[in-house]
Amino acid sequence: MDQDLYINETNEEYDALVIGSGISGGWAAKEFCERGLKTLMIERGRIVEHQKDYIGEGKSVWQYPNRMKVDNLLVEEQYNVQKLCYAFHDGTKHFFGNDKDYPYTTEKGTGFSWIRANQLGGKSLLWHRQSYRFSDYDFNANKLDGHGNDWPIRYKDLQAWYSHVEEHAGISGNYDNLAQLPNSEFLPPFEWTKPEIDLKAKFTELFPDRPMIIGRTAHLTKPSKLHLSQGRVQCQARNECQKGCSFGAYFSTQSSTLPAAAKTGNLHIAANSVVHSLIYDEKTNRVKGVRVVDNDDLSTREYFAKVVFLCASTLGSTQIMLNSTSKKFPNGIANSSGVLGHYLMDHVYNAGASGRIEGYHQEFYSGRRPTGAYIPNFQFEPSKYKKNYKRGYALSGGASRSNWQNNGQLDGIGVDFKHQLTQAGDWYFGLNAQGEMLPRFDNQVSLHASKTDKWGIPQLHINCQWSDNERLMMLDAEQTAKYMLEKAGLKDVKSYTSIDNNSPGLAIHEVGTARMGKDPKTSVLNAYNQTHDIANLFVTDGSSFCSSAVVNPSLTFMALTVRAVDYAVKEMKAKRI
Ligand SMILES: Cc1cc2nc3c(=O)[nH]c(=O)nc-3n(C[C@H](O)[C@H](O)[C@H](O)COP(=O)(O)OP(=O)(O)OC[C@H]3O[C@@H](n4cnc5c(N)ncnc54)[C@H](O)[C@@H]3O)c2cc1C
Repeated sequence: MDQDLYINETNEEYDALVIGSGISGGWAAKEFCERGLKTLMIERGRIVEHQKDYIGEGKSVWQYPNRMKVDNLLVEEQYNVQKLCYAFHDGTKHFFGNDKDYPYTTEKGTGFSWIRANQLGGKSLLWHRQSYRFSDYDFNANKLDGHGNDWPIRYKDLQAWYSHVEEHAGISGNYDNLAQLPNSEFLPPFEWTKPEIDLKAKFTELFPDRPMIIGRTAHLTKPSKLHLSQGRVQCQARNECQKGCSFGAYFSTQSSTLPAAAKTGNLHIAANSVVHSLIYDEKTNRVKGVRVVDNDDLSTREYFAKVVFLCASTLGSTQIMLNSTSKKFPNGIANSSGVLGHYLMDHVYNAGASGRIEGYHQEFYSGRRPTGAYIPNFQFEPSKYKKNYKRGYALSGGASRSNWQNNGQLDGIGVDFKHQLTQAGDWYFGLNAQGEMLPRFDNQVSLHASKTDKWGIPQLHINCQWSDNERLMMLDAEQTAKYMLEKAGLKDVKSYTSIDNNSPGLAIHEVGTARMGKDPKTSVLNAYNQTHDIANLFVTDGSSFCSSAVVNPSLTFMALTVRAVDYAVKEMKAKRI
């Protein structure tokens, strides 16, 4: 462990405090450090060192006592919410938050699955790495149909910043030239399987408005000189990423932004430091620093800086803001608008279809491709589609061959049966929807009036529900996926919609609650993620979103964060901060 990097007690004033070390915090720290600012990254959780602490990596299923299943008692006691995440298993559980320590409440009759990763690196260690740019159709959506406030930015404002983060992070994909899904700066795409190539051609012929593209993902398919210089190498297609990757082949704080920040000598990290609230100076109308409770021994300390960036994840940052009260801001810091905590969104995703592909029995593949097929939102121009809901959805999936057990369907006796056991099974292809959730004032987080956690911080109370818009959208997605697969000739097509079986949260794309906007009366942040109320306070994670759009959000957190740092540093130099 690098002793100069990690600090605990200090009286020093930093140039910048970055709260959180996940995807957003990693970028903020890197950008500040590279601009010469002495930066303190404050992280509530333990230190996770690249490579050394990936304790689940490289182990096969049979090396786990319960074949990857987490012990029932442990799940009951500590992971009652986290167990709902598809990536939760014995090889990853140590990267998920312990629900016993991170309690929250939900409004009666509602639910919200808050997936947490409270350690150095945050959810950057666990994410699925799907990376897509927003388009102007996304930035215009609220304005067009009047749901939510207008984004104060457009695609042109983020375009160069997307490129900036993509070149460093490494995004694989194909130049598809789609209006609704701008190209990134791509590394080579992952390969299609033969049935996918033919299916793609069939879809193009049958549904020209619904191109099927290869999923764009933050993996090094062909590392650049820059990536190699970071100690990162090519993806081995093991698809074991969520256990941690010693190759640094997928983007995480540990593999990418943290080493770049540390290299400058300007980075310091205060781990095990739970930010309780921000220290506000009413005389100067500035945030002076933060109050921290030690993760382990519950002692308290304070850290100070000229500028403060909240990057503690959507709900984490909002919780800190709500808990930072003063005479001027009795309902949460920088909350003169009263919208802090409101307009929480996730993606809706419980609908899809799958079927069997006939033939291709001579086609095999090796390795585990860490991405799939993606059909971007095709309803991006609302006037072109007649439908009974607002906004749209994307479909993602892929083809794979079932193994010799043929999905447990294998039956028989004697020589024929033994012969079948040596053969791979049929090919299957599925499509699953991910849809936009409308921003609604009623979907809100607030602080519980009496319950606190073990660090003395009021628990978050979450009131978030799907609306009929999401229900109607997913019914349509199910029918559309089924229709497309049947038309393309798949057999035994089965479809599903089960939106009300799951509460929001499980897409793990929570956004909103401290939204950007042009009008300080109806938004918390301006076009540069700076709070309208306090010049030296910025919030650059998903809480700043005005709408969820259809695509996965984290690439946009990165772009917003680096743009905000650039702006903040210029403002500091101009002495306006
Ligand atoms: C299984 C899984 C799959 C996903 N797949 C995708 C995907 O394919 N594409 C995509 O775009 N997104 C995906 N996501 C979502 C993505 O991981 C998040 O959007 C992203 O990590 C959020 O970045 P962040 O920096 O805002 O928050 P985080 O990465 O969660 O980091 C926040 C950090 O702040 C710290 N923190 C919180 N509160 C405090 C406090 N009070 N004091 C100090 N520190 C604090 C936390 O401990 C944490 O380290 C996925 C997530 C999961 C779990």
